[in-house]
Amino acid sequence: MPTKTKATKPAAKSAAKKTLSKKWVYLFEEGNKDMRDLLGGKGAGLAEMTGAKLPVPPGFTITTEACNAYTAAGNQFPKGMWEQALAALKTVEKKSGKKFGDPKNPLLVSVRSGAKFSMPGMMDTVLNLGLNSETLKGIEALTKNPRFAQDAYRRFIQMFGRIVMDIDAKKFDAIFDGAKEKHHAKQDTDLDTNALKEVVVKYKELYKKEIGEEFPEDPYKQLELAIGAVFGSWMGKRAVDYRRINKIPDNLGTAVNVVTMVFGNMGDDSGTGVAFTRDPATGENELYGEYLTNAQGEDVVAGIRTPMKIAELKEKNPKVYNEFRAIARQMEKHYREMQDLEFTVERGKLYMLQTRTGKRTARAAVQVAVDMVREKLITKEEAVQRVEPNQVVQLLMPQFDPKAKDEAKKNGGLLATGLNASPGAATGLAIFDPDTAEKLGKEGKSVILVRYETSPEDVHGMYASKGILTQHGGATSHAAVVARGAGLPCVAGCEGIRVDEEKKLFSADGKTIKEGDYISIDGGAGEVFAGQIQTILPDYDKEEDLKTLLGWADDIRLKKSRKGMERAPEVGLQVWANADYPRDARMARRFGAQGIGLCRTEHMFFETERLPIVQKMILAKDDAERQKYLDQLLPIQRADFVGIFEAMEELPTVIRLIDPPLHEFLPSYEELLVKATELRVKIEYMQKDNVNSSTEQAQFKETEELLKAVAGMKEANPMLGLRGCRLGITMPQITVMQTRAILEAACTLKKRGVNVHPEIMIPLVGHVNELKNQREILEAEAKKVLAEQGVDLEYKFGTMIEVPRGALTAAEIAEYAQFFSFGTNDLTQTTFGYSRDDAEGKFLLKYVEDKILPENPFQSLDQKGVGQLMQIAVKAGRATKPNLKIGICGEHGGDPSSIEFCHRIGLNYVSCSPFRVPVARLAAAQAALTPISKDK
Ligand code: PEP
Ligand code: MG
Repeated sequence: MPTKTKATKPAAKSAAKKTLSKKWVYLFEEGNKDMRDLLGGKGAGLAEMTGAKLPVPPGFTITTEACNAYTAAGNQFPKGMWEQALAALKTVEKKSGKKFGDPKNPLLVSVRSGAKFSMPGMMDTVLNLGLNSETLKGIEALTKNPRFAQDAYRRFIQMFGRIVMDIDAKKFDAIFDGAKEKHHAKQDTDLDTNALKEVVVKYKELYKKEIGEEFPEDPYKQLELAIGAVFGSWMGKRAVDYRRINKIPDNLGTAVNVVTMVFGNMGDDSGTGVAFTRDPATGENELYGEYLTNAQGEDVVAGIRTPMKIAELKEKNPKVYNEFRAIARQMEKHYREMQDLEFTVERGKLYMLQTRTGKRTARAAVQVAVDMVREKLITKEEAVQRVEPNQVVQLLMPQFDPKAKDEAKKNGGLLATGLNASPGAATGLAIFDPDTAEKLGKEGKSVILVRYETSPEDVHGMYASKGILTQHGGATSHAAVVARGAGLPCVAGCEGIRVDEEKKLFSADGKTIKEGDYISIDGGAGEVFAGQIQTILPDYDKEEDLKTLLGWADDIRLKKSRKGMERAPEVGLQVWANADYPRDARMARRFGAQGIGLCRTEHMFFETERLPIVQKMILAKDDAERQKYLDQLLPIQRADFVGIFEAMEELPTVIRLIDPPLHEFLPSYEELLVKATELRVKIEYMQKDNVNSSTEQAQFKETEELLKAVAGMKEANPMLGLRGCRLGITMPQITVMQTRAILEAACTLKKRGVNVHPEIMIPLVGHVNELKNQREILEAEAKKVLAEQGVDLEYKFGTMIEVPRGALTAAEIAEYAQFFSFGTNDLTQTTFGYSRDDAEGKFLLKYVEDKILPENPFQSLDQKGVGQLMQIAVKAGRATKPNLKIGICGEHGGDPSSIEFCHRIGLNYVSCSPFRVPVARLAAAQAALTPISKDK
């Protein structure tokens, strides 16, 4: 620490010219809560409380600018700062009636760091500064309590040595523990005055040995060193690391607060406490916190004695309690926000030492926001901005009981950590195949499906499970997408486990989990545990406060005009949902979705009884044969769409035509190869033994044919291969069948009097001719169906924008589309040139860790790159069709910062997984309340 050497120069000797210099130091009465940039959070809070005439010990704050100047000058105080600090100290002396360094009536101070944002990586507090062998006597005489004085002194030396001079805390602890042992003291308080005196001597010896100098006697030197150390800690490794992680800029600097000491350890009429103005776990409007009689601040943290609940203080010391409660109320009114307070009682007199906005759980955040509107403390707009959208998910998903989870961690239950793919918590039996998962799930057992990775063939097992765990795959992997859609917790890409699906087990952290063993997963944290952990189940219908808050959010988002924003629709952002099954659609509506932005029709092809027909359709030798199987699929698809339309009624419903490469519907090449080889060997043996092998030969022939077909469809890069509209173009009969199924289903509902709004969407369009081709086929069939049915029905035809060329040529494409929907999963994949399936498991997480990318672009939209393409497409599309409806249906549609971007570039709606609909409603309202700055 550079200040160690610097401080050997007596501070008082530094230049004390009386020139007018910049203001580096503010007395508490000179500041206010709006000066957080300059005074830091703590300093601004102390100033504001002083201004509000609350009992704050006198003190002053040295500014964050002084910290920056100190760093810039190679760890030198800026000119004039020290003199201003000395002048402020004089005022503090006057106010407190004590003098710094006075042996008779000494002023002692605490020195505390305080950046704009609370930062755990920073230097913490040094108490009792100003004590030396002379002032010690003054304290002894004034308090008539020599033990108290010695205790204060030993605490000071220890804190100063540890915090300011960086001496290893363990070395002080060893001395203290040695004294306790020597004097047979069980508790710290059992050490008498003489024992503490011995400790002080030993501490000073340690200091000299470590630093090479005597412990500083001069209080001014102590102060100078402490201030320098606070400034120095701003660029310390821990603080720098913390800022990197939390995206706090380095140039903010930290302020230093010098505060008159008040003592909570002066006897039973003294004490110290911390409290929230409301319960930070539930949000209940009741003081919540702890109080420790006869103690100094650090004793509460150290947990030496058990503090009493604030509620107990009410009985034990009603005077102090009532005074504190009145102040807490006053603080809340003043700040119009829940506060986290620190206070000390010195011989019956209450002092406030800190106030800041109280951190709270999701539940408390919602309740406090709604209550404060009812109490007329804040507006509905403010309430909507007080809740972090991502927190809302916590109220909808099962969560582990926090104590039970901590316990599991302590007991070594944490097996591995993977990607937090879908939030929520689940405990259940580890099951390694979807059929068993479905069977046990139907029997009412809690199951967690564990797979290397999932595929659409696993869906029935996934839906029957309480959670999904995969070793491989990222945030847009099949497992993650399906889990989010179904509201199931999912940990994906958990490379710390080794799954053996054959043997039905996985290993992790030296342990083996077999089929039927209990495991627990936390999809919000990406954690996997052995054993059961108690979970808490929420119920959306009973979340009255949340529903109220979301209602306010809807009013704001839908009424707030977007006039003045280039090419934006006048009204606010709508929230739709991605739903493939009627039950997902119903869930989405319950959560407030205003439409379906994506129904992936291919998921319906994977159901067990349909797959063989789909496979035969793909492998058909000619069009006639293909048509035969498509005819079989038609009624099945129609029934699916009837279900979706029934759930959505008159709300817009976007149905996307088939998208994935066809080989996904066929058995795996490797499995077929094994089967063919086994059959061949079997036949050889049978022939040798003259056994009739005609059945096996027929099977062999069929397998070989299938193998050939699968080999013929194999692609090096299936994600960039025959998929999306390319399929409909090469096999137009599929487009025809799906169009017919959608419109026949819509007509069925229309005949029942339900005014449905189908929107048919073509995936992966990169060239306008692709869309033209599909539109012609589709319109011809639609005309036919509507004529056959004799129904007058409006439907929309649109496209996904999910490859860069589609975005760049959006002006042309818009001529043939009534709507656009950004498929940002593919648009991210194709813009970065990353494979969606491989990137997250292979290198993307490292990229994020190493800060090569600021965030995972599959989770939070890359606004500079992918976002730029979207902006181009919006502008070009609406240049062709000013009222072109544009939405987003990639996973980003449920991510708050991406939603803010979508609002800004003028989209009509975002579409996300049903469980993220409430998150999106809140995030869209917040976006509507955020002023649009020109440079964004
Ligand atoms: C997308 O690419 O963003 C999209 C929604 O389509 P899918 O994820 O089905 O490819
Ligand atoms: Mg796509």
